Amino acid sequence: MNWNYYGNEAAVAMLRSHIAQGAVRQAYLFSGPSGIGRRTLALRFAQAMNCLNPPQAGGFCGKCRSCQLIGTMRHPDLAVVAAEQRGGVLRVEQIRELQHQLSLAPYEANYRIALILRSEEANLNAQNALLKTLEEPPPKVILFLTAADSESLLPTIVSRCEVLRLRPMAVNSLIQLICEIEEIERPLAAQVARLAAGRPGIALRLLQNPEERRKYLKIIEEHLTLLASSYLERFALAERLAKDSSKAELIFQLEHWLALWRDVLLVSYRAQEHLTYCEFSEQIAQIAEQVDNEDSRQVLKHLRRTLEILQSNVNLRLAFEVLFLNLPYVRFPPSRTQIPLERA
Ligand SMILES: [Zn+2]
Repeated sequence: MNWNYYGNEAAVAMLRSHIAQGAVRQAYLFSGPSGIGRRTLALRFAQAMNCLNPPQAGGFCGKCRSCQLIGTMRHPDLAVVAAEQRGGVLRVEQIRELQHQLSLAPYEANYRIALILRSEEANLNAQNALLKTLEEPPPKVILFLTAADSESLLPTIVSRCEVLRLRPMAVNSLIQLICEIEEIERPLAAQVARLAAGRPGIALRLLQNPEERRKYLKIIEEHLTLLASSYLERFALAERLAKDSSKAELIFQLEHWLALWRDVLLVSYRAQEHLTYCEFSEQIAQIAEQVDNEDSRQVLKHLRRTLEILQSNVNLRLAFEVLFLNLPYVRFPPSRTQIPLERA
């Protein structure tokens, strides 16, 4: 009865009750880290709102025309707006185009639904335009916004939305859940739950996709190599990254490097059992031995700062050069930056 949605039960219960009581609000903001299931939950909500054969109040069948089209984001009354790519800019023209669509009556559903993904990527003009729609919404229109956190949006936008803060599951509960819904060994469930940092959708995807799991571990392997590299090699890598990687890929890498450095601090606080990357526990211990806590915290700060400035129109190569200059040098015993990619 949980919309086939894992975790964040309170949020699902609240949305179900809004439908069951006929008290659906004008706008909802689904906030939380990327991959947590913000868009999925918004779409489930839209399905429940428009299902042609709801099995119970606040539920949806998943099979009718409306459920199918919304689930695949092809429903004529569902408008989806987002920056062209992750880390890009959502422009005011896109919001204007959306406003035009919303001014028309729904084709077949009860409501027109606008889904604005990663709304923190909307520039100030776009946010102001969006605010106008929130202040004077056309009839039969419901807005769904997703965002990493509500702080990156105009407070006047946030205050007009029902805010749902989605959180990752505790890793142990997620391991339990994965073992229940998939028949797999606990070590593998534990690996994907940790790599996904408690985000169920990502964990299930990683489970089905060993290639993607390897990609996660490869990113860490490369970072370890980087820490053991000279400045010359680091600059060469900065140039290569800026040239060959998309912004989305760079953001993805930085997020994993952040997780690795959090692991370094965990080891220094003797909290090894919570490591995200226990495949690399030896190397992480090496780093913790050679880099003191204050410097590790500085690295986390530089990584976060680089993530932030990636959102703006920066010189990528320069941003990575600065970051790499600020990473400590770590010496690993020979061949210790390589690890077996599959756990037994
Ligand atoms: Zn349905």
